[in-house]
Formats: sequence, C-alpha cells, structure tokens
Amino acid sequence: MKLDRRVGSATAVGRVRNHNEDGLIADDKLGIFAVADGMGGHRGGEVASKTALDALRKALKSGAEVADAVRAANRAVYDRSIKSNDLQGMGTTLTVGMLDQSGRGKLAHVGDSRAYLIRDGDFNRITTDHSLMAELIAAGELTEAQAEVDPRRSMITRALGLDLTVEVDVQDLELRAGDRVLFCSDGLTTMMRDPAIADALSQETDPQTAAQRLVDDANRAGGVDNITVVVIDFAATRPESSQENNPENNPESSQENNAAGNSPTRSGWRRWFRRTA
Ligand code: CA
Repeated sequence: MKLDRRVGSATAVGRVRNHNEDGLIADDKLGIFAVADGMGGHRGGEVASKTALDALRKALKSGAEVADAVRAANRAVYDRSIKSNDLQGMGTTLTVGMLDQSGRGKLAHVGDSRAYLIRDGDFNRITTDHSLMAELIAAGELTEAQAEVDPRRSMITRALGLDLTVEVDVQDLELRAGDRVLFCSDGLTTMMRDPAIADALSQETDPQTAAQRLVDDANRAGGVDNITVVVIDFAATRPESSQENNPENNPESSQENNAAGNSPTRSGWRRWFRRTA
C-alpha cells in the first residue's frame, strides 16, 4: 500500500561551535533521508559530511544498494582526505534511510548519529551507536547514566573516511501509516535524553515544526555541538485526495485549497492527525 510522507528537517551550529560540520538529506522525491556528522581539523568535518552525502546521493540515484552507496561515500571521503594535508584524518558518521512509496526500504548506519522509530506511542532507538560508550555499556563497565556525563562520550568507534573499507550496519525498514521516524546527530542526543525527545515530538504534529522544536530545545539545553534533525511522518494515502487534486474533477475544492495555500494532501494530513490524536 502506498503511504503518504511528510518531511521536516532542521540544522543549527549550536551555541558553542563556530561552524556546522553536520549535513543532511531530506529528499522526499527520491526517498532518501540522511544525517552526517563530520569531524576533523580546520574545515575537515564540513568537507567530510558534505563529500559523504554528495557521494551517497549520487550512488543511490544511479541505483546502488544502500550499503554499497555508503561504501562509495566512505571511499569518496577517504580519497579526498589523502589528497590534502588539511583534510587528513577527516571522517563522518552517516545514518541513511532509503524508502519506496510503500514505506519499505533499508536503513544503513555508521557512527553515532541515530535513527528512532515512533510507533503506536512507543519511542524506540533503532540504531546502535558505534561509540566507546555503547561498547562500555554493552560490556557492563558503564551504566547509561554514567555514560551521559563521561568525558569520552563523543568518541566513536566507526566512521566513514578513515580507511579504504568500512563496516556498515544495514537493516530492513517497513514503515506503516502513523509511524514517525527521526534521524539526528549527537548534538541532539547529548543535549536531550530520549524521554525529553519523545515528549517534544509527541507535542508537534507537523514534522517541520517538530524538527525545528528539537533543534531549539537542544540549543536551549546548551547547544554544545551542531544539531541536525530529520523527521518523516507516514500516513495512509486517502483515495479521495487524488480526485481533489485534479481540477477537472473538483474545480471548487481545488480553488479553495489554492487560495488557502494548502494542497489537498496537506489538509488530508491535518484531518488524519486530528483523528488519531
Ligand atoms: Ca556531533
């Protein structure tokens, strides 16, 4: 079954850093959604995340599997880093979802940018951080609470661009009507704990408002790092909206919607959210 999608995204430099090394893709047309968090001296981090996202998009557009596209992104960052002294050692996280119109697809992930799924009111992290903290928690050497204040909490164990090859975590995605997916960099998750993120998301039905709200909340909580968020909502396609969309079928409704600056699909969404709220 085809699902309607609505997408929101926001990125901010934060209140401490002077440039934004995060990047994102929120391409509803191609069904590509991604967050990358670059690292490296000088402008290395910015170059790494941008290089990775450009290579990723190019590979996916040419029909590559998601894991192969992430490997191509790794190679692009690596090749660029070894060509320039300034960029040596740069790297980036990458979390990417590639989805078809029915909400099926793949999630691929390297590093500590995260994906969450909000389904039936439950808020669940669906990626595992490739970070020192995650390893120490898994080994029973640290608790979640200890990890939150550990000075090593930004240390990651996997990134793109550091080596010729990279291990990519891949999982299937099968989204349903009513689902919301969040992609974010650690600038959000180090400033806000999961319950606070879930709470903020539950208060915002519009994905763009929700994305901006999370960035604002993370800034208010300190904004010590760049903050990047992509929010994707899924809803059942309403058969009548395709009729409303066609001016020949229903000229009055079309005019009305144009005058209000809203497409029929958008008003459909509003109704849908009200029904399920
Ligand atoms: Ca970061």
